[in-house]
Amino acid sequence: MISFDITELKKPLVRTERPNPQPTGHQVLIRILASGVCHSDLHIWHGIYDLGNGKTLSMMDRGMKLPLTPGHEIAGEVIAVGDRVKDVEVGKNYVVYPWHGCGECKVCRRGDENLCLNGKSLGIYQPGGYADHVLVPDARYLVDIGDMSPIQAAPYACSGLTTYSAIRKINPQVLNEEKVVLFGAGGLGLMAIALIKALGGAGVLVIDPDEAKHAAALKAGAEAVFSPKTDGLVGKLKQAAGGVVWAVIDCVGSGQTVQTGMDLLTKGGQLVQVGLFGGHIDISTPFIPLKAMTYQGTYVGNLRELQELVALVKEKNLPPMQTTCMPFSKAFTALLALEQGTAIGRQVLTPSEA
Ligand SMILES: [Zn+2]
Ligand SMILES: [Zn+2]
Repeated sequence: MISFDITELKKPLVRTERPNPQPTGHQVLIRILASGVCHSDLHIWHGIYDLGNGKTLSMMDRGMKLPLTPGHEIAGEVIAVGDRVKDVEVGKNYVVYPWHGCGECKVCRRGDENLCLNGKSLGIYQPGGYADHVLVPDARYLVDIGDMSPIQAAPYACSGLTTYSAIRKINPQVLNEEKVVLFGAGGLGLMAIALIKALGGAGVLVIDPDEAKHAAALKAGAEAVFSPKTDGLVGKLKQAAGGVVWAVIDCVGSGQTVQTGMDLLTKGGQLVQVGLFGGHIDISTPFIPLKAMTYQGTYVGNLRELQELVALVKEKNLPPMQTTCMPFSKAFTALLALEQGTAIGRQVLTPSEA
């Protein structure tokens, strides 16, 4: 198999060739048909998260080791299975749940493997999807995509799951009756608009500084779009939301977007932060109880949520998100395009003939 690996932080990915792994026990070998290039791959490649105020969080301190094959948005065909695998068919296509936990702790047993403190996520702590094959440690991580295109399915493992899990943290009744304010009309934001619609949401108001993204947000189903520089933004958003704002989803996560989001919330309101842009906020602590506010982070999602999401996409026949496909050998080009902000839609790596 061929993979494109981080051997040194911030250095070009290195093409590595090795024999295909042979699955044993519960393992499954996947021939990768689509592998999404996610913004968090950039954090992994840089080895840090920006924590604001000049502080950073090191991925190496969190247990990441090099060399590493990044990539956690993987869809492909099962080509071999271990002797204990049931319910997975060789020749069928699946999307891979990548957010593996230790499998043994209480958190994992509760089904929240993505929150396990000894996480073994594919593409971070185990070889991931910038490769033509991947060994999945357990067949239960595979979600059947039926005849959905692997290129559409792959990004559901991260950007789709992350937004779905964020939306599910909002009370379904609030979602159905109140408009959601959404920061960011990039890949996550557009996915959120589509999913909120599919879940019967009352509407989405979008804020993004890039006016070029406004049309895409409206096309995806946003009710209105705003620039963060709009005069009297908070008042205009409240008015558009029907007077008060109950729910904010922040796909940016800068100090400024979270601060604006918190300022928008009415009594009982909720801000769910997905974005990892980095920054710092000031909160007057009495407002948290006085306004009964919730400020909640969300990190990807659990296996059950990915199964629900794939079922929802099939049921509502959701349109695929915009993608740009390129061969695995262009993995580093894709990463650089993401860093420079020139990527169009989700970049997806595919076998070279695609
Ligand atoms: Zn991701
Ligand atoms: Zn665990």
